Amino acid sequence: MPDAIQFEVLARSRTCAARLGRVTTAHGAFDTPAFMPVGTQGAVKGILPHLVRATGAQILLNNTFHLMLRPGADLIAKLGGVHAFMGWDGPILTDSGGYQAYSLADVNSVDDEGVTFKSIVDGSTVRLSPERAIEVQNQLGSDIIMAFDDCPPAIAGNEDETGATVDPRLREAIRRDSRATGDYDHASRLALANERTVRWLERCNRAHSRPSDQALFGIVQGGTDFDARSWCAERVCNIDLPGYAIGGVAVGEPFEEIAPVVEHTARLLPEDKPRYLMGVGYERDLVQSVRAGLDMFDCVLPTRNGRNANAFTDNGQIRLRNARFRDDAAPIEPGCDCPACDPASHGWATPDARPFSRAYLRHLFAAGEMLGPILVSLHNLRHFQRLMAEIRDAIRSDDWSALESRWLGQVERPHEPG
Ligand SMILES: [Zn+2]
Repeated sequence: MPDAIQFEVLARSRTCAARLGRVTTAHGAFDTPAFMPVGTQGAVKGILPHLVRATGAQILLNNTFHLMLRPGADLIAKLGGVHAFMGWDGPILTDSGGYQAYSLADVNSVDDEGVTFKSIVDGSTVRLSPERAIEVQNQLGSDIIMAFDDCPPAIAGNEDETGATVDPRLREAIRRDSRATGDYDHASRLALANERTVRWLERCNRAHSRPSDQALFGIVQGGTDFDARSWCAERVCNIDLPGYAIGGVAVGEPFEEIAPVVEHTARLLPEDKPRYLMGVGYERDLVQSVRAGLDMFDCVLPTRNGRNANAFTDNGQIRLRNARFRDDAAPIEPGCDCPACDPASHGWATPDARPFSRAYLRHLFAAGEMLGPILVSLHNLRHFQRLMAEIRDAIRSDDWSALESRWLGQVERPHEPG
């Protein structure tokens, strides 16, 4: 049986663990290190597929949780799978739905069999187990599918690590699930989650019905504890899979705190398989993670911040709603080749090949025009793809000086809530 994906390493840095590569799937290839825009509900919000491609994206991420609830995996399968359904013929990765079930849904119970929650679409009771998460992804037909893992939010206090209050029903469900007989013990719940992640991965692998055209990735959990990460990585990597991921990283704590855990865990993953860091992150985090040996990334930042008028530039984020842009004729970022800053190079006939100005974009947001979020999302998506191209160049030439001085030096990172 042919492998669902092929991974070639084309160049390696001599000064760090970074590598340049290429992953070939049934729907084409993508260069690594790769950044995947997020198409939560089968769409990168507001952006036509050919424009997503024009930003340089070669692979997208879709969320299983949302697609299984609406319109349903049966319907998508009937209409030819998720590529045909959304009009994207390149590679697609789907997550397992577990993380959203924990973080978005009204959870009834968590146990060894899976998670039961109330649908956010119609209130019906939904059960997500390792077998069901794989069945749904097999129906969707994505090129890379993710194992269903146990990743409960921290409920040690009244708040989770992001400062958001954890839903009381979820807290109660996780308490009931804990092996601790007396008071809830967070450490023992994390140990349970780690063991369960390994057991569930074995079940996912057995349930996977399309291994010849869909690549199942295992996920290493273990929180911020080096030993727990080592324990999990050893067991997860003992199962021979086409790729491996590091999960439980983008769950609230600042990346600076988790970076040593990412470096530690990356070293434990096989050299000859793609390594995916889930849900990360800002530019500096990406540069640092590539240096640690990671190959694939996804994050909602470009599109979520774009919808909120926050544009990424080489000098940090700018808020286009700010009054100082009221009569600013400059593009978001002079020199940027995105469809908003340089429409002419994308065949858009603006008078005198002028860019869309900051003043115009500010006006669009003030007026509630949907073109504002579309243009800034396009710019942000291109910003991240330009960064990835620069990263790949840095690996090819093994010269990190320009990238490091630009991104690793950015101690202050403007925090713009989405
Ligand atoms: Zn731009």
